[in-house]
Amino acid sequence: TNALEIKGLRKIYRGGLVALKGLDLTVKEGDFYALLGPNGAGKSTTIGIISSLVNKTEGSVKVFGYDLDTQINEVKEHIGLVPQEFNFNQFETVEQIVVNQAGYYGVSRKLARERAEKYLRQLGLWEKRDERGRTLSGGMKRRLMIARALLHEPKLLILDEPTAGVDIELRRSMWEFLTRINKQGITIILTTHYLEEAEMLCRNIGIIDKGEIVENTTMKALLGKL
Ligand code: ADP
Ligand code: ADP
Repeated sequence: TNALEIKGLRKIYRGGLVALKGLDLTVKEGDFYALLGPNGAGKSTTIGIISSLVNKTEGSVKVFGYDLDTQINEVKEHIGLVPQEFNFNQFETVEQIVVNQAGYYGVSRKLARERAEKYLRQLGLWEKRDERGRTLSGGMKRRLMIARALLHEPKLLILDEPTAGVDIELRRSMWEFLTRINKQGITIILTTHYLEEAEMLCRNIGIIDKGEIVENTTMKALLGKL
């Protein structure tokens, strides 16, 4: 099965800017995939469309075979999104921010509390559970968003520039965490503009430039060419 299958994806923003010009992208189940490209290439737009935060202009998107146009609920259930912006309620506590996510997915409060504890522990945030979101460092906020994105146990985790602004120590522990959950079977797609990050983590890579995938290859093959 493919975790993600995108065909002919176009996005023209209001005002006429063409952000995606017929992008094709397939990511297999279990993969750890990097979408690498410079600022403005269309990474966030692509992720926004998959997560139904941005409307596409044309093209098809399937997540584990579910069509974004006709099976949006199934698509949403299978995806966990870690966006770039810290879009949680800064005045809630760390634990509340994660547990409250349950409401969007029909996860029971009891199960939500158990899972919140599990993921906050794994991400080194359990001791911070009673602190308000706004008091956390940037790296902690990023990890909090990962815990929140995992609450409904999606099969595909999508992270937009997950280590932007995160210092090198924390970056490593975040990489280790992501590698571990990928080994447990979660497909991961991340965007980055650091080749090094893609190199450390990913098996396959798509290089995006000016709204198109210009190269789609294994990390090994790419490194062999450089
Ligand atoms: P990346 O994530 O690779 O930096 P984006 O997907 O954010 O790229 O942006 C792709 C292009 O679309 C850029 O030219 C950007 O300026 C433009 N763009 C992004 N969001 C909007 C928007 N809401 N309205 C108009 N143009 C946008
Ligand atoms: P505020 O503006 O005070 O942050 P919001 O209504 O935007 O309040 O968000 C309240 C909570 O709901 C946030 O903590 C956030 O985690 C969650 N939330 C908001 N929008 C979404 C969404 N589209 N998907 C998932 N969670 C969301």
